[in-house]
Amino acid sequence: MTGPVLTIESLNVHYGTGAGAAHALRDVDLTLRRGEVLGLAGESGSGKSTLAYAVTRLLAPPGVITGGEVHYHPRGGAPALDLLAMTPAELRAFRWQELSIVFQGAMNSLNPVHTVHSQLDDVLKAHRPGTARAARRARAAELLTLVGISADRLGSHPHQLSGGMRQRVMIAMALALEPEVVIMDEPTTALDVVMQRQILRQLVRLRRELSFSVIFITHDVSLLVEFSDRIAIMYGGRIVEEAGAAEIYRDPKHPYSEGLLRSFPALRGERRELAGIPGAPPHLAAMPPGCAFHVRCGKALAPCGERVPELGSPVGEGARRVACWLHAEAAV
Ligand code: SF4
Repeated sequence: MTGPVLTIESLNVHYGTGAGAAHALRDVDLTLRRGEVLGLAGESGSGKSTLAYAVTRLLAPPGVITGGEVHYHPRGGAPALDLLAMTPAELRAFRWQELSIVFQGAMNSLNPVHTVHSQLDDVLKAHRPGTARAARRARAAELLTLVGISADRLGSHPHQLSGGMRQRVMIAMALALEPEVVIMDEPTTALDVVMQRQILRQLVRLRRELSFSVIFITHDVSLLVEFSDRIAIMYGGRIVEEAGAAEIYRDPKHPYSEGLLRSFPALRGERRELAGIPGAPPHLAAMPPGCAFHVRCGKALAPCGERVPELGSPVGEGARRVACWLHAEAAV
């Protein structure tokens, strides 16, 4: 891995204003390195999707970014771009070209009355207006082939494709302009396990060939263990643990990471007993004091209900960060 391509610092997001506002992201610090797959895991309401929408400036009202910075670092050492300071016109040029996103429920994002070709062509026409029609068609065919779909399906409408194929079309669209960063928000959740893994294997191959970086968001941490380089675990709007995928799998330090890993069957490695995490995620507008996980944690200590454990800074490549009083020394 080389240097950072996306840096997120102290990012805060609220939904609504006043006393009833939900604090959905709390001082999130995260770095995506060039060429890596960074997995983001957590239960529903942990802030994963809010992070994706905030970073891409697609947060819909009443969501509002209330603090922090997001910088994109172009190749070749050009100055970093401040995403939160971009104008709408700058953002339109930036998205798809440098950073693209595959949304949750992407199978329904395709326009049902247009062919695959027409939808791929729209992206190419909007961002590469000087490209000739024949060259755009050739590029659309190339993109379909890239994601494992025969080019003769260019004339198909979405309803003529399987769920897995529609998902691959969305990925082809996201890669159309060769962006540096692709953010995928639960892109395979609606597919069966075999199709999920096929698509993810393909994604990892494409990432190697085209050298883009990926933030992959899912609640299924076992998928991330297989396909990510690093994993960040979110709970209550905070990152609570971040480490290499193998380290998280072998030795999760945060009790919540442990609970998540025990909740999903692993396809490889030793068998382990499945067990859910007791209780429910906290309401973002009424977060418990101290460590937000303390009401569900079987290892809570004296300070857990009073003081929020810090995540700290990673030291060196692949270093682990843990926000837990059990590992307070490792976290500073
Ligand atoms: Fe559990 Fe305390 Fe660690 Fe929170 S800080 S995860 S309550 S041990």
